[in-house]
Amino acid sequence: MQRITILGATGSIGVSTLDVLARHPEQYQVYALSAHGRVAELAAQCRQFRPQRAVVGTAEAAAELSRLLEGLPVDVAYGEAALCEIAASPDTDTVMAAIVGAAGLAPALAAARAGKKILLANKEALVMSGQLFMDAVREHKATLLPIDSEHNAIFQSLPSQYARAPGESGVAKILLTASGGPFLNRAVETLEAVTPAEACKHPNWSMGRKISVDSATMMNKGLEVIEAHWLFGAPAELIEVVIHPQSVIHSMVSYVDGSVLAQLGNPDMRTPIAHALAYPERIASGVAQLDLTTMGALQFYQPDYARFPCLALAFDALRAGGTAPALLNAANEIAVEAFLDERIGFRDIDRVVRRVMDENEHGAADDIAAVMAQDARARQAASTIVAGIVRH
Ligand code: NDP
Ligand code: MG
Repeated sequence: MQRITILGATGSIGVSTLDVLARHPEQYQVYALSAHGRVAELAAQCRQFRPQRAVVGTAEAAAELSRLLEGLPVDVAYGEAALCEIAASPDTDTVMAAIVGAAGLAPALAAARAGKKILLANKEALVMSGQLFMDAVREHKATLLPIDSEHNAIFQSLPSQYARAPGESGVAKILLTASGGPFLNRAVETLEAVTPAEACKHPNWSMGRKISVDSATMMNKGLEVIEAHWLFGAPAELIEVVIHPQSVIHSMVSYVDGSVLAQLGNPDMRTPIAHALAYPERIASGVAQLDLTTMGALQFYQPDYARFPCLALAFDALRAGGTAPALLNAANEIAVEAFLDERIGFRDIDRVVRRVMDENEHGAADDIAAVMAQDARARQAASTIVAGIVRH
């Protein structure tokens, strides 16, 4: 029996994870669930999956959850320390890290330091503090399995000896596929005026709102380049982004002998979730088998960096190193939130991120305190820029 903590249980990844777990009650037991503000949804999950512990964002939310769960033996708590506790508890084996944004860093790191099996969806944690996170994984003998569909595909396409000797494994390139999001073919001059609803309408994937906007700007792919760098020890030059609008091939690895290995599947996150849960075995995920004969043509293009400036900004941050990716990530989180609240336009997202990157120094990412200080400065700088943008 694997005992599981799901951080961000009420989100898109959290719900998909519970869907897979519900198919295999004899193999998995839910130890703890967390949410931030969606208390009623979390209460319903607690009634179905009977975790020992549940964590929410605030004291008020905790009081409300306790009221909703009266009579059930669920220990209710709130706040970051409680999230870290359910991630590191000796009563859990596996932690699904599926909180969105920088808020997911501390509990994911707590799981790494406790030597857990970590299923990592929260890419922002690696973007902000990749070196520190990977060091913690190694030092505490944690197991890190990527949930992000591209990275899960790359993981599946790499040779088994790769983790021990990446330099000697014959890998020539990591080909990170990108759908291009909802605005791949929309006239560039009309991008100023797109609405949050249009930006969140992804052609292939159903996801949370923040990552949906990131997909529309292609910042998501930029964050994924940085994520791939840390997960697979690959320099920026080894990672190539390929636009593939059908999202059937989830990513590829190209080898020095000319071989290219790919992982294919329907665009449904339950596949990488089931892969990581059962690894190295396989379990059913509820995802339909891929029917290649009904698929039509698969297309591949080079990305257009003028249309998607955020992609170039992320490569810049990766090359700059240190706390530059944390700066990029924090500025992006503030800008995306402002866009979703209709305080700034869609194209303002890349302008805000660029200005924060240009106007703020980055430093060494030696410890979490330095990363969090950079994160705080970047949020402040981005908020000031956002406040100065007057919408017409
Ligand atoms: P959602 O917005 O759907 O869910 C986010 C989850 O995090 C919710 O449970 C939410 O709680 C919780 N949460 C939000 N803010 C906080 C906070 N400040 N503190 C603690 N918990 C918080 O996001 P997704 O499921 O789409 O994405 C989760 C992560 O997975 C992201 O990092 C994303 O990049 C990554 N990912 C997602 C994919 C997808 O298909 N969705 C694909 C690949 C990666 P509440 O519901 O109560 O607000
Ligand atoms: Mg992805």
